[in-house]
Formats: sequence, structure tokens, C-alpha cells
Amino acid sequence: MGSGALAAGLASRPLSARAAEPDVIVIGAGAAGIAAAKQLQAAGRPTIVLEARDRLGGRTFTDSSLGPAYDAGAMFIHWAERNPWTEIARELGVPTPDESWGGGFQLFANGKPMVASDRTRRRGAFGEIDRRLETADLHERDLSVAQLLSDLGPDLAPVASSGLLLSIGEESSRISARDYQRLWSGEDYVVPSGYGNLVARYGAGLDIRLNQPVTAIDWSGSRVAITTASGTLRARACIVTVPVGVLKAGGIRFTPELPARSRDALAGIGMGALTKIALKVEGERFGIAPGTTYFEAGAGSRLISFELFPDNRDLVIGYCGGDFARDLSTAGPAAAREQVVDLLAAMIGGEFRKAAGPVSFPAWWTDPFSHGSYSVCLPGHANARDILAEPIGGKLWLAGEATAGGGAMTAGGATLAGRTAAAAVARLKV
Ligand SMILES: Cc1cc2nc3c(=O)[nH]c(=O)nc-3n(C[C@H](O)[C@H](O)[C@H](O)COP(=O)(O)OP(=O)(O)OC[C@H]3O[C@@H](n4cnc5c(N)ncnc54)[C@H](O)[C@@H]3O)c2cc1C
Repeated sequence: MGSGALAAGLASRPLSARAAEPDVIVIGAGAAGIAAAKQLQAAGRPTIVLEARDRLGGRTFTDSSLGPAYDAGAMFIHWAERNPWTEIARELGVPTPDESWGGGFQLFANGKPMVASDRTRRRGAFGEIDRRLETADLHERDLSVAQLLSDLGPDLAPVASSGLLLSIGEESSRISARDYQRLWSGEDYVVPSGYGNLVARYGAGLDIRLNQPVTAIDWSGSRVAITTASGTLRARACIVTVPVGVLKAGGIRFTPELPARSRDALAGIGMGALTKIALKVEGERFGIAPGTTYFEAGAGSRLISFELFPDNRDLVIGYCGGDFARDLSTAGPAAAREQVVDLLAAMIGGEFRKAAGPVSFPAWWTDPFSHGSYSVCLPGHANARDILAEPIGGKLWLAGEATAGGGAMTAGGATLAGRTAAAAVARLKV
């Protein structure tokens, strides 16, 4: 079942249709919000989830608008050995095989195969980040990842850090090395039927109200008052799982405003801009094996990696991040498509243009309900995640991937953070 089926059943339910005064209101029906609501439901605490979009899943989203489906947001179950989604998928009977990289890999510079001397010069630079993070002592002081790599010089330092554009989605000068060092690692599993579909399916049976963007939270009284265009609901406690990008953009007005400690923590966290652009390519494979990667690295800051015909689907999926992805997002889907088709035509040949079909471009950076791909601690602010997770006034919790410590940036971390907040709320007296 996709999120669309759920949406059809939930979208039209007005705010007051069921328990008008729930114990708990959860804002956001992504991995964190769904996990929190599930836990509260199991604890017997009446809970309503208010979701701005017309679907469940948030930044996990299996998009089938082009026909063949792909995950436009989260795709990998990272550190799968301890990721809650491994267990949830097993319970729901959803297969989650190990990630397997098929096809070949080719490196390009400005649409042309990279010359051997350049490849040799760059070899090894990519691995430098991990090597340095293993040995760097960041207890006394934090650095940006760019600073950590600066002695590689102006030629190789950008190469070494460019891989982060496709993992963290951010420029290395804006990434705290200490926070990066803290992130968990492990096996990666995939969800062939869609990670977004899995998360949405896990939300079945919860009281989720779709199309309900929350605009205001008043936590001055004994109950928290939460306002959407449909009205105001009150509850004993509220768990806010919207992305930090939404909070930083002032998408929700808090009365009184959030404590200075939380606001300072928010100021220390930015949003990366990992972005996928999917292009339908039908009827022609140009002799390219399914799953092949074409990696454009000519200009370090305009890095883009194409996965060609993954799992034999009629799709080419481009991955980019940082300021380049922000520029593409702002330019919009038509301009993004043009750039991608031009580059692929240079790589593959002019005949590619005839086979290139429509584009799907979920631009998370310009999306008002995410404002980016996932949270990134700025250098010097590695403690911001823990501060953000602290309860506020005994009735307000901020939860979601940004508060997930070493699990941050991931759907698994979001889920654990949602459960942690729910456990604290479940201990409150009604
Ligand atoms: C391109 C991309 C690739 C990624 N790849 C991976 C990956 O491979 N593996 C991985 O684990 N993670 C990945 N992630 C990150 C992962 O998707 C997120 O960390 C995770 O889904 C966040 O879950 P969450 O519940 O914290 O937030 P969200 O999923 O963003 O949920 C928050 C919800 O709040 C809603 N909302 C926002 N504003 C309001 C409002 N005002 N009122 C009501 N509701 C509101 C949103 O619509 C959303 O549904 C990726 C993300 C992106 C963008």
C-alpha cells in the first residue's frame, strides 16, 4: 500500500471529528511522528497527529509519479543492525536486502570521461575524511570538515570533501567535524518496495489528520493550544517533529517563544540540501548496464552522480547537494531537467535527448514543510542536538532526526527520537 491510499482515507477528516481533547498532539507524520504516536497509542494515551501534507512519511517518500517508483527521500536503512526499521519491516513482512551496488562506475569532467592523470591525482583523496576523523582529537575544540582537510591544499581539499555533498548534502565549511565524528555507521539495507511506502504503512491505524499545517503553538497555559487553519486543539503535551528547517523559517509561531537555550541550539543547526532528480528514460538503454553510475566531478562544487536504470527501471536518478542543489531547487523542475539532460547528452551522446522523458524533482530545499534534506550541525555547535531534545516547560518536546544524536539525519534516528519523546510524555500525569 502506498501513502496515497492512506491519504484518501484520512484527508477529509475535520479536526474535531474524534477526540477533541486528546492527551497528546504530535505534529508531523514522518518517521518520528508516526513512531511517537504508535508508542503513545500502545501506552493507552489518546493521541492525534497533525500533518501538513496530503500524505504520510515526510522525508521518506516513494514517488511513483513517473511510473516506475523510486525513493525521493530516504532510501537506505543505515546501521541496519540496530535500526528500528529492520525490525518493523520484518514484522510487516517487507523484504530489506543488503544494499548491492550493481553496474559499473565512470568518472566524468564536464561531460567527458576524466583523463587518467586527473583520476590518479585524485585517487585516495575521497578517503581522507574518514582517515582524519579517526585520528582527530576534537574533544577540546570543534572544527569544520573543511578545516580538517585544509592542509591537503587548494587542489585536493575540495576533492576530498566533495563526497560529503552527496552524503551530508552540505558544503564542508558548514559541517561540524565533531558532530560528523559522532554519527553511527554500519550495514546499509534497502527496501525494494519503497522506504516511503514502508513508513506510511507503519502509520496505518493512527488518528492522523492530513492537510493540517500547524501555524501556532501556545504553551502558556496548563494545556498546549495548537492552531491550524481548521481550528485550535488542546492537549496535555505536544511533540513537535517538524524539520528544524521549518522551525528556523518561523513556520510555527510559539507563544511564549521557545526558550533562549532552544533558540540558540536551533541557530547552531542548518539544513543540508541533498537532492534527487529523477528522469524517465524509455525505450533505449544506450548499451549501459542497469545500475551503472556516471559521476560528474569536473567542477567540485557542481558535483552530480547519476544512477542509470537502477534495478532495470526506466529511470535515471541524479544526486546532488550543497549550494549547487540549492541553485537547482530555486531554478525549478524545468530548468533542473534542462541542465541534467544537457549533461547526460554530453556523457552518453546527443541521441539521449530523444529518449529523455519527464522529470520528478522533489526539491526538499524549497519545500515549505522541510526546507532542506536533513539537519547538519554547524562547526562549534555539536551539542545543539542534545539541547534541542530537552523537554520544554514539561509539556513541549522537539523530536525528529535533528534530535537523534549519533542517529541524526536518518529515518531510523528520527524513529528513535520520536520514541524517546513519547516515552517521556507517557510518564506524565494526565
Ligand atoms: C534526498 C534525501 C535522501 C535521504 N536519504 C536517506 C537515507 O538513505 N536513509 C535515511 O535513513 N535517511 C535519509 N534521509 C533522511 C530522512 O529522510 C530523514 O532524516 C527522516 O525521514 C526524517 O524524519 P522526521 O520524522 O524527523 O521528519 P519528516 O520526515 O520531515 O517528518 C516531519 C513531518 O512534519 C510535517 N510538517 C512540516 N511542517 C508542518 C507543519 N507546520 N504542520 C504540520 N506538519 C508539518 C512534514 O510534512 C513531515 O511529514 C534522506 C533525506 C532526503 C531529503
